[in-house]
Amino acid sequence: MAAMSAAMPEIEPTFPVPPLNYDFLAPPRIVFGWGRRAELGPLAATLGSRAFVVSGSRTLEKNGALADLFQLLQAAGVEPLHVGAISHEPEVGDVDRLTATIVAHQPANDDFVIGLGGGSAIDLAKAVAAMATNRESTCVVDYLEGVGRGLKIVHSPLPLLALPTTAGTGSEATKNAVISSYDPPFKKSLRSDLMVPRIVLVDPELSISVPADVTAHTGMDAITQLIESCISRRAKPIPRAMCLQGLQLAITALAEAVRNPSCRSAREAMAHAALLSGMALANSGLGLAHGVAAALGVECRVPHGLACAVMLPTALHVNRAGCAAELASLARVVCPGPFSSDAAAADAFIERIESLATEIGIPKRLSTLGVRQNQIPAIVTGSRGNSMSGNPRDVSDEELSELLEAML
Ligand code: NAD
Repeated sequence: MAAMSAAMPEIEPTFPVPPLNYDFLAPPRIVFGWGRRAELGPLAATLGSRAFVVSGSRTLEKNGALADLFQLLQAAGVEPLHVGAISHEPEVGDVDRLTATIVAHQPANDDFVIGLGGGSAIDLAKAVAAMATNRESTCVVDYLEGVGRGLKIVHSPLPLLALPTTAGTGSEATKNAVISSYDPPFKKSLRSDLMVPRIVLVDPELSISVPADVTAHTGMDAITQLIESCISRRAKPIPRAMCLQGLQLAITALAEAVRNPSCRSAREAMAHAALLSGMALANSGLGLAHGVAAALGVECRVPHGLACAVMLPTALHVNRAGCAAELASLARVVCPGPFSSDAAAADAFIERIESLATEIGIPKRLSTLGVRQNQIPAIVTGSRGNSMSGNPRDVSDEELSELLEAML
């Protein structure tokens, strides 16, 4: 035995592996591929015969994509009911009104929800699917984290089929829906393991109509999620392996998708990276960039992806010292080496992210987003949510305030 172990090579992972003691939650069925929305009918028919459809982008209505999808549903014997369309980040009133509409249709066992759009439409679909079966309160605020009455989603939501049309949030693969309120200001999640979509159908071809600026912002959201879930204090082994693949793809594909919107390989890479980022964040949590992004969303109406993109370099510098080994593992898949040390590799990774952000036109200063100095205290307060609690190190209110002031 001793001779055998002497002959065995030492296993030295090239990247840090979090403790091998974990849970992993993911959608039970993922169908991914260019043009595969053609399979929507039979897939949907496995969930029921009447679909409450919640859509996002008007572009997909105007270019006929939505009508084509409805035809596919009807051909498979599924009746589509287009109950809602949203092109802004969902608010409390949107959820409550749309839930009331669905409840008025008396949903039964054979009914389900389809969410088609960016993170906004998918989150709205997820929230109404859950609220339609959980009626202890008719106001979603009562179920949101950190506000309201703290009610829990205890009944299975209506089954959900998610079809993402942006490559960013990964909401198609997560267990939460992010809901905003502007008065009072908060951006909080409705969250339950029961809310993971039953079927995820990712057709990257649906994203070719996404404008260049939205491609850049949503793509940086995915990259931020891949990085933050990798270095999170709740990081787990399966998500970390996914993050390495997702980042390798996204870092090279994003600029190409912004420059050349119909580039199939870039759109495919970004859609896959976003899907991986969703599974990663749902299991490992996030960090400072996402914490502040929620506050920038409600205090200054900054779109989610743009807020994450602007905050990412600062979040990386803040966490660099404590996460050099993790950031070095990311550098080894996205930056040309060799590196003299983990610290040198971590610095190369941060520089790579900064140069990508510059290349795709992400601003560096918060003032460019309309943020004013007198809003900083409220932004600091609004940053303290679930995302911030995953940041690898504690950041006090004073430090956060100084960081934000330095970014004005
Ligand atoms: P979005 O859904 O708001 O879409 C941005 C814009 O792009 C909208 O105007 C939309 O109409 C348009 N658009 C979408 N698809 C298009 C297409 N194919 N062609 C043309 N235009 C298109 O943006 P998003 O970044 O995807 O979602 C943001 C929301 O998702 C935020 O509320 C954010 O908090 C939330 N989010 C949720 C999760 C989660 O796990 N639930 C994770 C991250 C972010």
